[in-house]
Amino acid sequence: MNIALVAHDGRKQELIEWVKYNWETLSQHNLFATGTTGKLIIQALTESHLDMIGLGNYTDEYPERLRVAYSSKVTCLLSGPLGGDAQIGAMIAEGKIDCLIFFCDNLVIQGHQNDIQGLSRLASLYNVAFATNRTTADMIMTSPLFNNNNYHRIIPSVIESYRNRTL
Ligand code: PGA
Repeated sequence: MNIALVAHDGRKQELIEWVKYNWETLSQHNLFATGTTGKLIIQALTESHLDMIGLGNYTDEYPERLRVAYSSKVTCLLSGPLGGDAQIGAMIAEGKIDCLIFFCDNLVIQGHQNDIQGLSRLASLYNVAFATNRTTADMIMTSPLFNNNNYHRIIPSVIESYRNRTL
């Protein structure tokens, strides 16, 4: 599956914790993230990996090698306010994203509110699995359909109808 990860600043820590917790499963999929979210996820995964190994048990260049390895698992797009949300929206429209985990900060209006609404609209329109909070993300992640290769997302018929509308 192709999974997009986005979090507003106020909820980045929450998403990072969620990604770390679910890394074993997530790492089996293609991951995309808006710029800053992706960068912080890669950093957090690298740090927790190094913590696990323990100081003194690795060479000087190992942290960088690890960061590169995690970077290859998470494709970072543009930062959300600079077009990253719009990029993910376009990928959804092109059928390149199956699942969107988008932890929005509901307490502040964002400068790129229009992009956020656009992204949410496209996620809904194209019937992608779409979580805006951790409970929903947990439920998507633990669904038997999540790792089921025989499950194919239905593209709603309204899309084809709209495409073929008579004017
Ligand atoms: P960011 O973008 O990951 O680059 O901070 C997130 C967003 O606000 O859409």
